[in-house]
Amino acid sequence: MKHHHGFETRCVHTGNLEDKVYNSAVSPIYTSSAYGFLDQKIGRYPRYFTTPNQIGLAQKIASLENAEEGLILSSGMAAITAILFSHLKAGDHLVVQQDLYGGSTNLIRDEFSKYNIDYTFVSSFDLLAFEKAIKPNTKGIFIETPSNPLLKIIDIKSIARISKKYDLWSLIDNTFASPVNQNPIDYGIDIVMHSATKYLGGHSDLCAGILLSTHERISKIRDFAKNFGASLADNTVWLLERSIKTLSLRVGKQTNNAQQLAEYLTQQKWVIRVYYPGLTTHIGHALAKKQMKGYGAMLSFDLDKNINLKTFFKSLRIIKPVVSLGGVESGVSSPKMTSHILLTDDERKQQGIGDQLVRFSMGIENLEDLKSDLHQAIEKARL
Ligand SMILES: *Cc1c(COP(=O)(O)O)cnc(C)c1O
Repeated sequence: MKHHHGFETRCVHTGNLEDKVYNSAVSPIYTSSAYGFLDQKIGRYPRYFTTPNQIGLAQKIASLENAEEGLILSSGMAAITAILFSHLKAGDHLVVQQDLYGGSTNLIRDEFSKYNIDYTFVSSFDLLAFEKAIKPNTKGIFIETPSNPLLKIIDIKSIARISKKYDLWSLIDNTFASPVNQNPIDYGIDIVMHSATKYLGGHSDLCAGILLSTHERISKIRDFAKNFGASLADNTVWLLERSIKTLSLRVGKQTNNAQQLAEYLTQQKWVIRVYYPGLTTHIGHALAKKQMKGYGAMLSFDLDKNINLKTFFKSLRIIKPVVSLGGVESGVSSPKMTSHILLTDDERKQQGIGDQLVRFSMGIENLEDLKSDLHQAIEKARL
């Protein structure tokens, strides 16, 4: 399946394994961890990322991100660890966007100093602030857009340009957008990362990560990843392949639902403010319009002070108060109670994360059912 086929076609067909024995319509699963060595061109072994299912799925996702090659790992964090520790050594420095997934922030804060790797968190979304943070020993820039939980947008093309100007590599966490809504390699970004646990998996039933880049870079990352050992089992690789066949349908519907719910929420008295890149009032709307194919399926909103947040969550009947995101079922969470629980009140305020902020991961349900569910829960939670 060639790159010139449409996105939806590549979701369904690219990288699938042919079954020459039974002509089955779907890829067989090869769960073997041992392969004969006599006639092999490549040494096949799960931890080397060379089983038939691993290779096939990496091709599928690479084609969706217009990348030369992909590498599938056992989690999103394994993917981030593999890229950062294969591309940084003692004495190096990394420029990092401050509004990053909590796990990424923890990894950098907790582990880098042990290996004498330096870093600077950039709190502003201003490009000059990124450029100013670059030091003589800086090797890379790490961004995430749209960001969690306020869906702030950073200019991908400009970050790629700055990286090239200073001879750095650029890394983006593209999880929130998914390959359906944003393809950063087209804008000159060097490495794209996804937590496949979210939209690529899409059913809240697996954990996986993926990196996408050039053959040369993936080969370098693979050499490191072999040593630290974070390959994905072939049963899960197969499940992820099956999930991606419906990726464009799922995320298309989720994105559409999110736009409509965001517009609806702006009109509700119990909502103070809505954060969604598809709203013309959103601070990053113009930029999102330029660099995203769709505005994504994540949104946030501040509830009025007279709504009890916990009662609201407990009263929901369809929408689930869950921490993860990207599944076909809608979920809500409170950054204050979950992802940003370790920050002080002041730190949260600094990032614009209010106590009444609700993060909404849009599913594929009927929109009217979701609106009714919100309404009945709000009525019960009024103080
Ligand atoms: C979940 C998530 C990760 C981490 O992925 P895991 O699969 O949980 O390891 C990284 N970045 C973002 C934006 C995420 O949502």
